[in-house]
Amino acid sequence: MNVLLFGPPGSGKGTQAKDVATTLGIPHVATGDIFRKHLKEGTDLGRLARSYMDRGELVPDSVTCDLVASRLQEADAANGVLLDGFPRSVPQAEWLLGWLRAHRPGPVVVLSLVVPDSFLVGRISGRRTCLKCGATYHVTHNPPPASGCGQCGGEVVQRKDDAEDVVLARLATYARETAPVLGVLRGAATVHDIDGVGAIEDVRARIAAALALG
Ligand code: AMP
Repeated sequence: MNVLLFGPPGSGKGTQAKDVATTLGIPHVATGDIFRKHLKEGTDLGRLARSYMDRGELVPDSVTCDLVASRLQEADAANGVLLDGFPRSVPQAEWLLGWLRAHRPGPVVVLSLVVPDSFLVGRISGRRTCLKCGATYHVTHNPPPASGCGQCGGEVVQRKDDAEDVVLARLATYARETAPVLGVLRGAATVHDIDGVGAIEDVRARIAAALALG
């Protein structure tokens, strides 16, 4: 099964993704994580992506779709993937639906996390991320241990693009380019709208209930 985790920045996609992928036995593919890995390794792609990420804009569709195409062709993705943060534009969505129809026919399930705008800025600008393993924390709701990441001991910092000015740009990009994707997906996949407000475990239970429906 192919599952798309959809929602604005700060809606909790990353927080829920690993669990969903583990439950379904499919790999978690997050385009943002792949770009950050390239950035850390100093590749050409990382340098290109940084110029967009730092401004809260989308990396161009052609670059992003090529990246996803090669990831989808890896052996572990043969029986499905959980895509997190992709597609993020109408052209990406149309490309993905076409690719899946041609190469991986079968159900496409969309988990759309619904969180009102008023929650998003506080959620993202309070977020702290482990540089080593990517675990996320929140300064008030889930503070990281003083000694570093509770999972791997790595250094926990604020992602550069989680600073408030970039967050506002990311939300504007979402409204302009990503929100319309949902209309495209509704015509081609099963879309579950999930209330993303509340405790992490409550949202997890709503996702599990939606997945049980198929
Ligand atoms: P995320 O970690 O999902 O919040 O993504 C961080 C940044 O990576 C975004 O603000 C974009 O600049 C870039 N990015 C991630 N996914 C995509 C995508 N599907 N299309 C274009 N840019 C993306």
